[in-house]
Amino acid sequence: MSALLISLLLIIALLPSCASTVARPRLTAVFLDVGQGDSCLFLLPDGTSMLIDAGPRSAKDAVVNSLKESGIEKIDYLVFTHPHEDHIGGGVAVLEEFDVGQIYMPRTSHTTKTYEDLLLAIKDKGLSITEAKAGKTVVDTTDLKAFFLGPTKNYEDLNNCSAVLCLTYGKVTFILAGDAESEAEKDMLVAARVPDADVLKVGHHGSATSTSDEFLDAIDPEVAVISVGKDNSYGHPAQKILDRLAKAGVDVYRTDVHGTVTLTTNGRDVEVKTER
Ligand SMILES: [Zn+2]
Repeated sequence: MSALLISLLLIIALLPSCASTVARPRLTAVFLDVGQGDSCLFLLPDGTSMLIDAGPRSAKDAVVNSLKESGIEKIDYLVFTHPHEDHIGGGVAVLEEFDVGQIYMPRTSHTTKTYEDLLLAIKDKGLSITEAKAGKTVVDTTDLKAFFLGPTKNYEDLNNCSAVLCLTYGKVTFILAGDAESEAEKDMLVAARVPDADVLKVGHHGSATSTSDEFLDAIDPEVAVISVGKDNSYGHPAQKILDRLAKAGVDVYRTDVHGTVTLTTNGRDVEVKTER
């Protein structure tokens, strides 16, 4: 894996213009500050878009507004990693406001009002759900590939059922671990080669039960994003995980500290911009 040039756009903005590289379509990943929850928008180089989770219900307006500000009219690929409210709570609002192409969710049995409302909204829109599971391809073009690393099987624990997405543009790979915990991480490592990635959306908001040494070693990211609410009652992220990431030399960005975190790549270099 080639070395990455990772710079804050703020710093770049201060440098004299030296852009001599041939312009290449860019991919942007926006890790939205949704408080305690997850939502990540990919603006793909071919002009399509992908949304991974829609945050908690309390952030639905923020998610919808951010998507509108990004110029989104249609979400081509909508992934709900698992049925917990902090990942699907904004889902109904998103379905009401935008055209949606393909929807991916893991097969689970879960019965909460929030989940039932989401399934109903999907049905009302005349959409069907494609099962998110290990090995399932979402996008497969020359430059851009996206597939699921997990779940490799069914679990009683919904976090472990998380759809774990691996997306590669050019030489840059992102892994979004949903809320997968160490049991699911171990199964992914056994089931397939977990690729070396540049960017890791840390599993389960940085909880101590995710991001095992083995999983982190396999991915060996340069940048990690933790989507987490300020002063959340769970104590996420765990100091143990922050220490583990620091020891591995990973640059960590947190939505509770940095606000929305935006990563842009031309398929070679990754630039990170933070809201604060
Ligand atoms: Zn969660």
